Amino acid sequence: MEKWNRLLGRRSRREKIFEEFNAAKKAPIWGFFVLIAVYIVGIIFVNKTSASDGVFILSGQAISHRSITGAISSVCNLCLVMLVVLYKRPGFYVSILALLSAFPSLIIRIIHHNFTVLPGIFTNILLLIVICVIFRYINKSDRFQQRMRDQALTDRLTDLPNRFAVSEMTEGLVQKKEPFAIAVMNLNYFKNINSAIGQQSGDEALIQLANRWQKLADEGATGTNDFLATLNGNEFSVIIRDYASEEQLRKSVESYADALKEKIVIDNCDFVLSASIGYATFPEDSKDGETLFDYAYSAMIQAKKTDHSGCICRFDESMLDDSHAMEVESKIRRTLEEDRFFFNLQPQFDMNHKLRGFEALARMKDENGKLVSPGEFIPVAEKAGLVDQIDHKVLISATAFIGEMVQKYHTDAVLSVNASVRHLLQTGFVDEIRDALYSSGLPAEQLEIEITESVMIDSVEKAIDCIHQLAELGVRIAIDDFGTGYSSLSYLTSFPVDVLKVDQSFILKMHSGEASKQYVAAIIAIGHVMNFRVVAEGVEETDQLDDLREIGCDYIQGFLWGKPMSPEDAAKLIEQETSGSGGNNPQPEQQIVNHS
Ligand code: C2E
Ligand code: MG
Ligand code: MG
Repeated sequence: MEKWNRLLGRRSRREKIFEEFNAAKKAPIWGFFVLIAVYIVGIIFVNKTSASDGVFILSGQAISHRSITGAISSVCNLCLVMLVVLYKRPGFYVSILALLSAFPSLIIRIIHHNFTVLPGIFTNILLLIVICVIFRYINKSDRFQQRMRDQALTDRLTDLPNRFAVSEMTEGLVQKKEPFAIAVMNLNYFKNINSAIGQQSGDEALIQLANRWQKLADEGATGTNDFLATLNGNEFSVIIRDYASEEQLRKSVESYADALKEKIVIDNCDFVLSASIGYATFPEDSKDGETLFDYAYSAMIQAKKTDHSGCICRFDESMLDDSHAMEVESKIRRTLEEDRFFFNLQPQFDMNHKLRGFEALARMKDENGKLVSPGEFIPVAEKAGLVDQIDHKVLISATAFIGEMVQKYHTDAVLSVNASVRHLLQTGFVDEIRDALYSSGLPAEQLEIEITESVMIDSVEKAIDCIHQLAELGVRIAIDDFGTGYSSLSYLTSFPVDVLKVDQSFILKMHSGEASKQYVAAIIAIGHVMNFRVVAEGVEETDQLDDLREIGCDYIQGFLWGKPMSPEDAAKLIEQETSGSGGNNPQPEQQIVNHS
């Protein structure tokens, strides 16, 4: 039957689905025409020059037309081979046609006793054989690859695409920037059904349901373009495209829930199933396919919590607190256990582009090697009481690194490390800093601790005491993200601050109007009155730099002059500075190297 379908050009459901994936991986159509054009031009040239006694003049040397005919005809042959390799069947037909069409003129020439074309005939015959062999081989290996791919992307029980297929599909849509939604559907109480009627009948129920939902998707009864998949056992997912509004999307999701209202009959027993459904949309909820899937999953869990007999929930950020945070927390714990936290260094410069120092920024990769942003893991680590361990790891490894640089290059670069409130307020914090200085050999005045204004809310007295102790050690203090938090000037007078770091949100807004620029100017002026140096964070554009120069900023930190970089790249920058070629540093690429 499958053979007949293929002969009649009918595609099976699965073939249609996987066609979408493969479409993206085909060679571009313009290449097909370029190869044909090169071939035609080449053949015209060969035909004209093979009989000509003309010459080209190259660098004063005469080169006969005939001597380059061979090279051009090789290029033509290569074009035909490329057509078959890249464009398979259409390429094969075009190549065969091109080769066969050359034979009549060659044969006519032989009839007219022009035997110089004999090598051409042999080459054409040889090429015909080569092209047929290549085509046959490609066809075979393509079919094999296709079969393997289909198997890897298909759920054996329901014959629907599986979780991998969902990942591939979402990746493709994200790349194309096409809006879509992912819904995760979990059948309620399915374990009970399995134990009541047995695993085999349970499987039969899943197959019936998969067919019913697939029919819904195939017939377009949901009003949207849907891609249904099985995740595992009683969990399904649908990727929904081409919806005009949130209402239409909601209706499409509801039609899957409604389809469950009709009973399923197995061994003459009637079953009515229900599902908890959660969904999230691209690009609104996340711009990353896997994260979006996690969000849809969180929404499904929320739906289950809300009503065990079937409920639909759209993702919203409050749902992250539970499931996503738990997931991030377990990633943090695993990374700490395996000692895989590492750091990047982002350079800070004075306004003449002379290196002032670096801020150490914690970095973490998940088990797939993908970077997790500190904006995501630091708040979770703070809540879970793990942030001091991350701070400690960064402190020890970054001070060791800059200490080494001091020994090697006698650099006076300052190292800034972030200290979370929780960490700062711990009893042993000052001792930890003292130990880090001692073991790294880094001079105290080259270490700067960045704290945020929120320490003043949590425990003012303890914070002031700790900061005084740090100052006694000779360590500098910077107020990070200044202007975003507590923003009371009174506390600034109560302890020995050295640096104010103006938050990047103010730098970003500077261009929105004179008032925003004056706001930054006021922060800088206040800082100077209090004898602090001011660092502007997040400087990305030359205009921002010019404005900051004009209003008297002391230092800048931002992508314009330096992204966070690996310690290896930071070492090169220090070497350049200390060898006197500083002030014109090349923009280092962001490169993440595990330095743990
Ligand atoms: P932060 O301490 O204010 O660090 C500056 C952040 O701004 C860094 O983000 C840096 O990559 C980013 N940045 C710098 N220049 C630019 C720019 O020109 N454009 C843009 N768009 N961004 C820029 P990152 O590395 O993602 O860190 C985010 C936050 O996570 C940090 O903000 C800090 O609060 C926290 N963090 C990072 N490492 C640590 C750590 O070791 N301990 C603690 N407690 N917090 C950390
Ligand atoms: Mg910072
Ligand atoms: Mg900051």
